[in-house]
Amino acid sequence: MGKTLDIAIAGAGPAGLAAALYLKRAGHKVRVFERFEQPAPVGSGLILQPTGLTILDDLGLLSAILPLGSRIERLYGADAATGRTVLDVRYSALRGGRFGLAVHRAALFGVLYRAALGEGIAVETGAELETIDNSSEKARLVAVGGKAFGGFDLVVDATGSRSKLKQYAQNSREPRPLPYGAFWASLGWRGEGFDEHALLQRYRRASVMIGVLPIGRAQAGGAPMAAFFWSLKPDDANRMRTAGLGAWKERVTGLWPECAPYVEQIKDFDQLTLARYGHHTLATPAGRRLAVIGDASHSTSPQLGQGANMALLDARALAHAVETTGDVETALSAYVRMRRLHIRFFQALSFAFTPFYQSDSRTLPFIRDRLVATVAKIPPAPQFLAAMVSGTLVDPFGPIGLREVDWNERATAET
Ligand SMILES: Cc1cc2nc3c(=O)[nH]c(=O)nc-3n(C[C@H](O)[C@H](O)[C@H](O)COP(=O)(O)OP(=O)(O)OC[C@H]3O[C@@H](n4cnc5c(N)ncnc54)[C@H](O)[C@@H]3O)c2cc1C
Repeated sequence: MGKTLDIAIAGAGPAGLAAALYLKRAGHKVRVFERFEQPAPVGSGLILQPTGLTILDDLGLLSAILPLGSRIERLYGADAATGRTVLDVRYSALRGGRFGLAVHRAALFGVLYRAALGEGIAVETGAELETIDNSSEKARLVAVGGKAFGGFDLVVDATGSRSKLKQYAQNSREPRPLPYGAFWASLGWRGEGFDEHALLQRYRRASVMIGVLPIGRAQAGGAPMAAFFWSLKPDDANRMRTAGLGAWKERVTGLWPECAPYVEQIKDFDQLTLARYGHHTLATPAGRRLAVIGDASHSTSPQLGQGANMALLDARALAHAVETTGDVETALSAYVRMRRLHIRFFQALSFAFTPFYQSDSRTLPFIRDRLVATVAKIPPAPQFLAAMVSGTLVDPFGPIGLREVDWNERATAET
């Protein structure tokens, strides 16, 4: 687009900050609005897949994030009682030198935020946006308390799954709560019995899931950390608190004794953050002068670990659509088209997989345990699983004008 646009980005999460960087670099006037007084990441750790890492590379930020994270080669889960393998996905099942990078959220946020500030992008904090006023020639954003900002040629809603602005998209819908969520904590990394290049999990049917993910450092020079999670129904959280920390720790170590050095670090329930999961996919993540990106457009359980990666892909897609079309309306249609197939496919996959790992079902985990022990080892199942976790079962790159990083070439260049 030849014209310089006035663009508002609502939300300073991965989606919002990446979109701000792309659009500012393309020459547009960009302002970011964030509800927090001090922009800060919420939650513990996440895995950046080859998809998300390719976007960070495209933004020139891969070398900044790599030393902070922990390189993940394998996702491994076993039944807590029998020790039988229930999940075993290796990135190396596919050629190409792929890997995941587990990061502390603060590390990802820090890298994107510093880049945004370095580009001179204005970030307005303490602005909890509520509505879009489209009554005049340009859109205005209205915050809680009535303060209005604007006008804008384009509003980008990147305010996450509980977005209030997505109601202005066509056929908007709210996330449907999923029965299970999780308690998460960021703890000091303890290596004994754990692999610093793997996400390790233990299960009991689908009602118990414990996970330990090495996530590297929150900032350069910081101590190495792990994300620790315990799956539970949010409604059971109070019961767990009433039973006491000691009872819960005993339960965890009874199922997975090697976790003792992790639960020992938890002195108070306040160290555990309760994450509630919901699932929704907007059919058309766009409206009048509005693009909806990231979790605001599609949220799900983190079972497949794609959310932040899809948020980064959305940001690139939107910027590519704006760059390659002549006006905002056409750009919005192009953006929706570019991301449609990938989003729908992975949202459906996530929806289908979640109850195998988080539900009260006895049948689904039974099938899971038998299937993985046998079928998942036979080609092409390992390759399929590796592509699924990588986020590339459906090509996300071609439609957004990008090619995946050549990981082998990069590794050679670095040695
Ligand atoms: C426990 C857990 C584990 C996860 N693990 C993974 C993983 O391994 N891999 C992965 O890819 N994804 C994972 N995810 C998903 C991932 O965290 C999200 O998909 C990702 O953060 C979405 O980014 P976003 O920028 O769209 O939204 P968010 O990260 O939610 O950011 C939204 C931003 O908007 C701000 N905001 C919200 N409302 C307003 C408002 N009204 N006005 C102004 N600002 C507002 C918020 O404060 C926030 O800064 C996980 C999620 C959870 C909960």
